[in-house]
Amino acid sequence: DDRLIRAEGLIRSIPDYPEPGVLFRDITPLLADADALRATIDAMIEPFAGTFDVVAGIEARGFLLAGAVAIAAGVGLVPIRKAGKLPRPAASVDYALEYGTATIEAHDDIRPGMRLLLVDDVLATGGTLQAAHALVAELGGTVVGTSVLMELDALGGRAVVGDVHTVFGA
Ligand code: 5GP
Repeated sequence: DDRLIRAEGLIRSIPDYPEPGVLFRDITPLLADADALRATIDAMIEPFAGTFDVVAGIEARGFLLAGAVAIAAGVGLVPIRKAGKLPRPAASVDYALEYGTATIEAHDDIRPGMRLLLVDDVLATGGTLQAAHALVAELGGTVVGTSVLMELDALGGRAVVGDVHTVFGA
């Protein structure tokens, strides 16, 4: 698909951000381009069309994609947020980062039996998506798929998260 090849070319690599030694993939030029954004959102939905009731977007860059995915797929959206941001969290999961730990939370708008599509921008080590799976399970929801804009292959996240659909690899 020519539109996706063009979209991939809009992802910018920033050396030494946010710290020395990290090559950060900046998706904001892709988001700023109407045609690239549309093609990317369609590609994120395509394998899962009709199989999910709601999109779960992961803070913060996952939110930029999840809203568009929800509207394009004709479903609603629930946010998975960092600790302390939601007024009435019903579930919470701690997970390990490279240095220290983090916590994600969700409201009980994720209900038992609900079928969710998890959405984030980048799959790196997979820790964030693994924690999101556990969070949805705690609330009784079912993850029917995980869709990520870009996968950093060298970091091995796929082995941690299992089945994940990625539009672009690196
Ligand atoms: P993981 O938990 O898989 O190690 O990290 C994934 C999370 O970190 C995602 O939520 C993603 O937003 C962020 N992340 C890690 N590396 C990058 C990167 O190079 N670019 C962007 N945009 N996000 C990244």
